[in-house]
Amino acid sequence: MSLSPLTVAKFGGTSVADHQAMLRCAHIIKNDPSNKLVVVSASSGVTNLLVRLSQKNVPEHEQTDIITNIRAIQLNITQHLAQEQMLNDQIAELLQQLSEFSNAQSLNYCPRISDAILSFGEQMSSRIFAQVLQSVGVNGEMFDVRQVMKTNAQYGKAVVDLEQLSAHAKQSLTPLLADKVVVTQGFIGQDEDAYTTTLGRGGSDYSAALLAEALHADNLSIWTDVVGIFTTDPRITDQARAIKEISFGEAAEMATFGAKILHPATLIPAMRQNIPVFVGSSKEPEKGGTRIQQFVESSPIYRSIALRREQTLVTVKSPAMLHASGFLAQVFGILAKHELSVDLITTSEISVALTFDNPTGSTQALLNSTVVEELEQLCEVTVEHGLSLVAVIGNKMHRSNGVGTSIFETISGINVRMICHGASEHNLCFLVDEKQANETVEKLHTALFA
Ligand code: ASP
Ligand code: MG
Repeated sequence: MSLSPLTVAKFGGTSVADHQAMLRCAHIIKNDPSNKLVVVSASSGVTNLLVRLSQKNVPEHEQTDIITNIRAIQLNITQHLAQEQMLNDQIAELLQQLSEFSNAQSLNYCPRISDAILSFGEQMSSRIFAQVLQSVGVNGEMFDVRQVMKTNAQYGKAVVDLEQLSAHAKQSLTPLLADKVVVTQGFIGQDEDAYTTTLGRGGSDYSAALLAEALHADNLSIWTDVVGIFTTDPRITDQARAIKEISFGEAAEMATFGAKILHPATLIPAMRQNIPVFVGSSKEPEKGGTRIQQFVESSPIYRSIALRREQTLVTVKSPAMLHASGFLAQVFGILAKHELSVDLITTSEISVALTFDNPTGSTQALLNSTVVEELEQLCEVTVEHGLSLVAVIGNKMHRSNGVGTSIFETISGINVRMICHGASEHNLCFLVDEKQANETVEKLHTALFA
């Protein structure tokens, strides 16, 4: 048990993009002594470059260009630091390893090497940030998270072993926190053969939450480039405003249904340990942010509207489903085999409609022709793209009168493709045509939040 409060602070890519940004984060750490463990993302842009480098058949000149680019991003920061030479030597060594992995990858592609490649952004930013802390008089020290973040060997979306994490964290991390601010990497882990793994794009939030859980932290702060969680995406309507306080249940729905601000799994460890989560902007920490916790003072029926684009709607239809049992189990068996996760489901007597997320920038087409062919053995299959999922999030929505009327009267001119309501008290969601998505959110925001 630690005696003084412990906050795990996570800084995203834009927060550690350059020296100015890192300095602001260093002051955030310095100003609150409970910030003892810092989890960093790669400097903005670096992971995207590494993703390219990790792919098949990247031409040699492009490999060189990418590595040159990455070096420039990092040296642009280290030039401001007293420990510049030491850091540049470490960066040179890491980039040497990176270039070896990249050569190996272009000779013989392998998912394990992809993960090794993807890990370098965090390896560099964490070393640099520890020195930025030193430059403001904080005793920062880099810790390699792979000592504690043990995972399976599912490269690209490795699953963390919570028991090992907890045991290793207690043994090797807790003692360090007594007199140091430990800076470690988000996003990466290590499998039992000591190969580097990654937890999936945007996974640093999740890493930070897992570490907070393992260390029984009192708070988790996610520092990003927006002043908290908004009632809806401010790019859609300027009426969107930051939410001061929100419950775990509502925030989890928001993260799942498209609010891009947190990695969707982030709240799970925080909820398990009941650790309050703060989301704020490292650029404007004085503006406050959003507090996510178990109990909040107000529980309005409408809290926010989330929008998730690029949804795929699959309808499976089979007369055999009539009075038959086991049909759904077969459908889900196929989906499970391909590790596809379904978001929304509605059923009628002989058909089932399912939606799948198709996250932008995802490297694989999640719903591929193999899956569709396998489903076609079973039933008639229709696949539709170009849809957006709108989720209205709030409280006791399943028991409040007039929720459906308020929502659907507001958008009566818009064609609604599928509606899910009642399974969760925290949301009502539906699909609309991609082209009408913004209009839908704008209208609803005006009606429900003005
Ligand atoms: N650097 C990783 C990414 O860009 C992880 C993260 O930033 O959360 O996906
Ligand atoms: Mg992120």
